[in-house]
Amino acid sequence: MNALSSHAVPTGVFDHPEFRNHESVCFVSDPATGLKAIIAIHDTTLGPSLGGCRVWPYASGAEALTDALRLSRGMTYKNALAGLDLGGGKAVILADRRKDKTSDMMRAFGSYVERLSGSYITAEDVGVSPSDMEAVAERTAHVRGTRDTGLGDPSPYTALGVFVGIQAAARHALGSADLDGLSVSVQGLGHVGFDLCGRLQAAGAKLIVSDIHAPSVEKAIEVFGATAVPAAQAHQVQADIFAPCALGGGLNSETIPALKAGIVAGAANNQLMTAEDGLALKARGILYAPDYAINAGGVISIALSRPGESDALVVEQTQAIGATLTRIFERAAAENLTPEVVADRMAEERLAKP
Ligand code: NAD
Repeated sequence: MNALSSHAVPTGVFDHPEFRNHESVCFVSDPATGLKAIIAIHDTTLGPSLGGCRVWPYASGAEALTDALRLSRGMTYKNALAGLDLGGGKAVILADRRKDKTSDMMRAFGSYVERLSGSYITAEDVGVSPSDMEAVAERTAHVRGTRDTGLGDPSPYTALGVFVGIQAAARHALGSADLDGLSVSVQGLGHVGFDLCGRLQAAGAKLIVSDIHAPSVEKAIEVFGATAVPAAQAHQVQADIFAPCALGGGLNSETIPALKAGIVAGAANNQLMTAEDGLALKARGILYAPDYAINAGGVISIALSRPGESDALVVEQTQAIGATLTRIFERAAAENLTPEVVADRMAEERLAKP
């Protein structure tokens, strides 16, 4: 009996609950810089995989693997539904961004991305700054979203996509895409939420704003003449549209019964806590714009922008989010399904017929 067989066989990737036929999962270790990372490539049917690199102080390698498997699959669906000729991948680096992360670590990460010969293209995600990506780009050309590779900050394009998505939702639920006079509760006034407020105000919408960061709220009052509410009340105010632009998980068994808006359409990732919460919204007659469909403007800008080129193509593809959402809403109504189930099916259909 050898040493390995005397122990219980460890749980691996193939029997992991989040494993969905990922094409490859790469475990990266570079003791010289302290780099420990997982690069998961879920699906390259439509093209090379694109997805951000996240730096996070995971409690364990198992937790990091769960995130890498789940997030890379999410990118396959997001890129497919956004009409991009790109597959889904994601990298997670097991490190505290303040204590552990160094330029050398990011360079070493870049070297490993380079070894994958373009089957994984990386970009910024949580815990990664523009300067980190510059360090990555010293070692690999397979990086997007840096100053040298495109338009830089993707947030304005995410906000544009959310804005046209709100118009599409209003057209479907209220019969008109005209937002003049409608009230929108924007929760979270960060990079996306604040930009979105400007677009909504220009379209004549009445803004109700909230954020846990008081200076952002004060700025929105000053710049837009918005009405402020406490962050915990954003979902329960009387408004036509609720736009979650803060953290995920905001649509759950506690918040959904208290919602007054007939439309939920915002930038936050993973808004539904569980699949049942999507059904609960449908049961209440609330139209939900699936998060990964409406917030794809950022990945579109990262994927399609090229140095020195105008953003016309990015804007055009981001505006197409409106038409995609209209198709989702119409099919959901016709087939008596929730919009997020239809979004998944549409992504899967594109993958089945690339
Ligand atoms: P950000 O960090 O710039 O802003 C988030 C804002 O939400 C901050 O102002 C923060 O204070 C506030 N906030 C946090 N918790 C809150 C709470 N409980 N109630 C109210 N406000 C709260 O982030 P961002 O780049 O604007 O992204 C917003 C959301 O959109 C995130 O969920 C992000 O994952 C998602 N998203 C962003 C992009 C992008 O291009 N930036 C793309 C796709 C999805």
